[in-house]
Amino acid sequence: MVQEILLWPSPVLQTVSVAVGSPTAADRAVAQDLIDTCVHAGGAGLSAIQVGIPKRIVCLRGRLHRPIILYDPVVSPYGIPRFVDEGCLSVPGVSESVLRYPEVAVASWGRYTQRFSGLEAQVLQHELEHLDGHIFLESLPAPAQEQALRRSRLYQERRHRP
Ligand SMILES: [Zn+2]
Repeated sequence: MVQEILLWPSPVLQTVSVAVGSPTAADRAVAQDLIDTCVHAGGAGLSAIQVGIPKRIVCLRGRLHRPIILYDPVVSPYGIPRFVDEGCLSVPGVSESVLRYPEVAVASWGRYTQRFSGLEAQVLQHELEHLDGHIFLESLPAPAQEQALRRSRLYQERRHRP
C-alpha cells in the first residue's frame, strides 16, 4: 500500500532505526509498502523511516527493473569518492551535489553479499544515512540547508496548486 512519505525536517527522520533480525510478516508488509511507495513516487530508493517505521528496511530501485528489499543492510564503500547530484523523496524538488563512493558491497539478511556501482551504490549510501537518522543535506553548510528547505517548500506549493 502506498504510504505518506515524511518530509524533512520531520524529527522522525532523525530516528536511528533498529535491526530487523529475522523478518516477520509485519516486516514483510512494511517492505511491500516501501516498494509500492517508492514506485508510486518514482524514487530510486526508500527507507522505512521515511514512512515512519524505525526499522532497518530499505527498498532499492536504482535503474533495476524490479525493486529489491534489503533487511539490515551493511554497506562497505569502495573506490575514490566523487561529487554526484542527489535528491531525496523527503526533500522533493531539491538536488544537491554530495560526495559518494562509486562502488559498494552490501551484506544483508538472507542474501549473499552483493556489489553495486553507480546509481545503485549512491542510493545505498544515501539510504544507510536514513537508517542512522541522517539526511544527505547534513554535509552542506547551514545556509545551503536552509536554501534547500525553501526551494523544496516552494516546489511543493507549486505542485499542489491547482
Ligand atoms: Zn532520502
